[in-house]
This record gives sequence, C-alpha cells and structure tokens, in this order.
Amino acid sequence: MSIGIGNSCSNCEHLTQSNTCSVHLVSVNPMYTCNSFVMKESIKNDRNCITCVRYEAPTCENPKKAAPKMSCSHWAPQNAVA
Ligand code: SF4
Ligand code: SF4
Repeated sequence: MSIGIGNSCSNCEHLTQSNTCSVHLVSVNPMYTCNSFVMKESIKNDRNCITCVRYEAPTCENPKKAAPKMSCSHWAPQNAVA
C-alpha cells in the first residue's frame, strides 16, 4: 500500500509567516487542514528531487535516478515526515 502526503496547513496558500490561518484567523499547525485549503503555488511549481523530503533519504523510491531536475510520484514536501 502506498501512503500519500495529504493537504495540510503547512502547504496551504492561507498559512501566514506567523503560523496563523488568514481565512480563519486562528493559530494552526501542520497537522491541521480544512475545506478552504488551497495548495501553495510555489509547491505546485517546484516539485523536483531537491525539494523532496525523501531526497538522499532511505525512503526515496528511485535513489539511483534522483537528481535536481527529476521527480516522481512519491515526491513529498520537506516539512512532511518521510
Ligand atoms: S485555510 Fe484551512 S488548510 Fe489553509 S491554513 Fe487555514 S485552516 Fe489550514
Ligand atoms: S521525487 Fe521521487 S526520486 Fe526524487 S527524491 Fe523524491 S522520492 Fe526520490
């Protein structure tokens, strides 16, 4: 079974620098999510091995092919737990 990374406040466009949600005006953490979630553009456009939490880690699915301009379906953001 493969386990994917879900949407959470940590990769939501509405998360502010002070870890506050700009929609709900409350403090949030990476474990939270809600129906107002919007994926950050910078993450959408920057999926490559260098930005993957699994790069050079034992959990990388393609360790022999991983490289700066490569990516695969197992890419996960760096604030995720690999
Ligand atoms: S909109 Fe929802 S997912 Fe996005 S930061 Fe606020 S609480 Fe988190
Ligand atoms: S995107 Fe795929 S190949 Fe690249 S580091 Fe992540 S898991 Fe490995």
